[in-house]
This record gives sequence, C-alpha cells and structure tokens, in this order.
Amino acid sequence: VKEKTKNGFEFYTPEINQNLQRKVTLQKQLRMALENNEFELNFQPQLDLEHERISGVEALVRWNNKEFGYIPPSEFIPLAEETNLILPLGKWIMREACRQNKKWQEQGFPPLTIAVNVSMKQFNEYNFVESVSQILSETKLNPQYLELEITEGIAIMDHSITIKKLHALKNLGVKISIDDFGTGYSSFGYLQKYPINILKIDKSFISGIATNKENAAIVQCILSLAQHLNLKVVAEGVETKADLEFLLGTTCKYAQGYYVGYPMTTEKFERKLLSLKQS
Ligand code: C2E
Ligand code: CA
Ligand code: CA
Ligand code: CA
Repeated sequence: VKEKTKNGFEFYTPEINQNLQRKVTLQKQLRMALENNEFELNFQPQLDLEHERISGVEALVRWNNKEFGYIPPSEFIPLAEETNLILPLGKWIMREACRQNKKWQEQGFPPLTIAVNVSMKQFNEYNFVESVSQILSETKLNPQYLELEITEGIAIMDHSITIKKLHALKNLGVKISIDDFGTGYSSFGYLQKYPINILKIDKSFISGIATNKENAAIVQCILSLAQHLNLKVVAEGVETKADLEFLLGTTCKYAQGYYVGYPMTTEKFERKLLSLKQS
C-alpha cells in the first residue's frame, strides 16, 4: 500500500488516498460478503398511535466484516450501487424480509407490515416487478404485508416505465411509501399521479419537533396534504417522549424512531413483540 502511494498516487493527498484505499478494499470485501453470509437484517418497530400497538417494522441491512468490523449502510449501500452488487444484495434483503415476516405470522404474532428499502438501481432493473412477485410466491407472504420504500428521486422520474412499474406493484398488492419525505424535491405532482400509499416524514423534521416551530409547521403542512390525498403518514426519528407527545396531538397515526425502538436483531425484536403481547 505504501509503495503504491509513492509510485502510483503521488498527486493525491494522503487523506484522499486513504479514503480511496478503503473504498477499493471495501468494494472487494463487498463482493464476497453475500457468499460469506456477512449480511443480516435488523428490524425497527413502527407504532400505531391510535391503537397503541406495533403494526409494522422496517428492515435495515447490517454488514459485519472480519477485517473492517461493522460498516454502516450509509457507507456500503452507495458502494454496492456503484458496483451493481445492490442487485443481488437487494434481492437477498427482500427475500429475507419477506421470509422473516411470513415466519412471524406462522409463529402466531399479530400480522405486521414489513417495509423494505429499495434503491434506485434496484427499482430500475428491468425485471424488478417480476423479482418482487417471485419472492412473494416463494415465501408465500401475503403481498398486503409488504411495503416498498422508495425515494422521491425514483418517484419524480416522470418516465412511463416508472409509472407502469408502480402500477404493476400496486396490482401485485404491495404498498409503496416515499422515504425521507420532505428532503428531496418540492414537487408534489407525483403524489397525485402515482399509486403511492404512505409518506415517511424525514427524521430531520421530527426530532425536537415540540420546540421547533418551523419543523412543526412543515409537519402540519405535510399531514394536511396527506389527509387530502388519502395517504398514510409515518413520522421517522421519534427520539423522545416530547416528540411522541407532539405527534399524538396531530393527525399522524404512525411513529418510528429510537424512542419507540432501536433497530434490533431478530431475537430482540421477537422478545419485544412477546413482551407487548403479554401486557
Ligand atoms: P432510512 O431508510 O431513512 O432508514 C432510517 C435510518 O435512521 C436507519 O439508519 C435507522 O437506524 C435510523 N434511525 C431510526 N430511528 C432513528 C431516530 O430516532 N433518530 C435517528 N437519528 N436515526 C434513527 P441506518 O440503518 O444506518 O440506515 C441508513 C440508511 O441506509 C437508510 O436510511 C437507507 O437509506 C439505507 N439502508 C439501510 N438499510 C437498507 C437496505 O436494506 N436497503 C437499502 N437499499 N438501503 C438501506
Ligand atoms: Ca427507509
Ligand atoms: Ca427514512
Ligand atoms: Ca434514506
């Protein structure tokens, strides 16, 4: 590595070179990670505020590597996108999430909706809808319990193919949500045009909402918009009791965040479900 620095990358500052090295090595590790079973899913509960019960769960991928330890998705998902590895990885995540959700139902837990993050490249793959359909029949999960989280970046692409795909997904019976709503674009046209069911308000608007008047105004505005368009709203980033109490005074019906529950392993999540069942 040092020799390379001297000979090959002289024009880079050491810091940039180090970042580049890490990136290249991570990408190499990433290619073997699926085969080596290095990925797992964590599950973060979503609270139904009206009925005071857990009604859904978001699947979040985790990567533990022998050499690098824990690498956050914010670092490796972009790398996986660059290398197209997101395609097999995305399928693995979708299958694993559906399989696990079906298993919980078979174990007798009250049925939950599982939300799966879909990256742009994954969504744009020509056979994305078929692969979702295939995974649903393989795992025998009722499509009504699967929710696909897409970003505004996908939704705003005004391509006939995008619209067709979203309708095909709707026809499969799965739900579509817009992740990080409010951070991307200020165009709402697509909300009317596309078959979208859920808005997930970005955490930057929610944490500290009780004392932040600007954020409170933005959230009230989104809630009113959602009500008129008949969309469900999930507030993300509920970190404190005060955040939750503020939401209880609004029309928002679903909350997700550290105060409700951290993303957790399967075992921990099951324990949480069990503890709630008994109380
Ligand atoms: P996201 O989809 O917006 O996921 C929510 C992120 O916020 C998660 O970070 C979660 O741990 C974190 N979070 C949850 N509650 C709170 C809270 O109360 N406060 C704060 N500050 N943060 C909270 P995570 O797991 O590190 O994921 C980061 C991003 O990486 C995700 O953002 C998503 O864009 C991407 N990602 C994660 N898992 C997957 C996946 O399976 N597939 C794809 N394509 N992307 C994923
Ligand atoms: Ca998400
Ligand atoms: Ca989000
Ligand atoms: Ca995100």
